[in-house]
Amino acid sequence: MSQQVKRITSPDDPAVVDLCHQLRELSSNLEADGWPAQQLRKCGEYGVFEWFVSTECGGQGWTHADIMRGYLALSQACLTTTFVITQRTGACHRIEATENRSLAEHLLPDLISGNSFATVGISHLTTSRQHLAKPVLLATRTANGFILDGFCPWVTGSTHAETVVMGATMDDGRQILVALPTSAAGVEIPPAADLVGLSASQTGAIRCHDVEISDDRLLAGPQEAIMKQGRGGNTGGVQTSALAIGLAGAAIEFLEQEATQRTPLDPPAVSLRREWTEVAADMLAAAADRPTCSNEALRTRANSLALRATQAALAAAKGTGYVTGHPVGRWCCEALFFLVWSCPQPVMEANLCELAGIAP
Ligand SMILES: Cc1cc2nc3c(=O)[nH]c(=O)nc-3n(C[C@H](O)[C@H](O)[C@H](O)COP(=O)(O)OP(=O)(O)OC[C@H]3O[C@@H](n4cnc5c(N)ncnc54)[C@H](O)[C@@H]3O)c2cc1C
Repeated sequence: MSQQVKRITSPDDPAVVDLCHQLRELSSNLEADGWPAQQLRKCGEYGVFEWFVSTECGGQGWTHADIMRGYLALSQACLTTTFVITQRTGACHRIEATENRSLAEHLLPDLISGNSFATVGISHLTTSRQHLAKPVLLATRTANGFILDGFCPWVTGSTHAETVVMGATMDDGRQILVALPTSAAGVEIPPAADLVGLSASQTGAIRCHDVEISDDRLLAGPQEAIMKQGRGGNTGGVQTSALAIGLAGAAIEFLEQEATQRTPLDPPAVSLRREWTEVAADMLAAAADRPTCSNEALRTRANSLALRATQAALAAAKGTGYVTGHPVGRWCCEALFFLVWSCPQPVMEANLCELAGIAP
């Protein structure tokens, strides 16, 4: 670790501003770099990965509300890096929570220090491929473990992960979660998908060709509806809203800067900022267990704000903002992500109603 870097120990720490400044500077090269390696290294140096892990397990054990304040700042600076961190954190939470303590003790130290990267592949148990009759990833019991066969449709950082917390379904409908080493025989990782935005998150499928995994890699299960238990990977949670609000914040800040020279931009900038302040306050209240509305209602508002704020920023930036490489164009593409990422059915329906101009 570099001598000058200070570990961030609270969301009010001035080092948050330093880190965010560096993330913002690096974000213009993201698509060319193809993966936020430098950004993640910096986050590791600043102790970001410690925020999410309990003190007993070697982390800083931040409260949920403080983590959301951290996410808000980070996502305003670089959505891709922050999104990758959420997937990494989802994996860490599942590893931290497992009753398989020797596995947790084996994996956690390198994850907390940033020396290793883990991610989640669980959406096929929640929001993806739910209309198909057969599970896309089948787990079959063996004498000392499972055989995994099929594919996992969405894994962020698939090409960079040492470990994937992966869900699979048995033919009796029960599910398991395993910490799959990507080096295991039979694991195939195709190049990540070329996405409308966030391509540098290296999100793609992982195929498992009769992969043998022993019980010492089992994190949870077999059990029904495994994602309803514990933290990490729950759909439409407060953190998904925090990231959408963070992105909206970046766009509103841009609009505010433009409005200092162009008075007609003032009313929309003021109105969007007012809405942002309300949604952010409601998100932080929910994170502190004092919800003012349901998670779905919060996410619906956050999605709507992210879409409108980024497009307002583009309108203000005009043609210049539409040229590839301008941050405003990138933010517009990134806002679309919230229509599809970890988006429970009620949020999707509410978004569609808003787009169609009909009452939900
Ligand atoms: C950039 C990105 C990163 C992601 N990262 C991760 C990650 O790290 N880990 C993770 O677990 N998940 C991740 N996800 C997954 C995400 O949370 C959602 O699960 C995913 O967006 C759902 O989309 P889907 O196309 O798989 O949905 P599906 O519901 O499987 O839809 C696929 C297609 O099937 C058709 N279809 C849908 N429903 C029906 C129906 N009822 N009847 C008939 N046809 C239907 C539609 O034409 C649709 O296009 C990521 C997604 C994105 C876009």
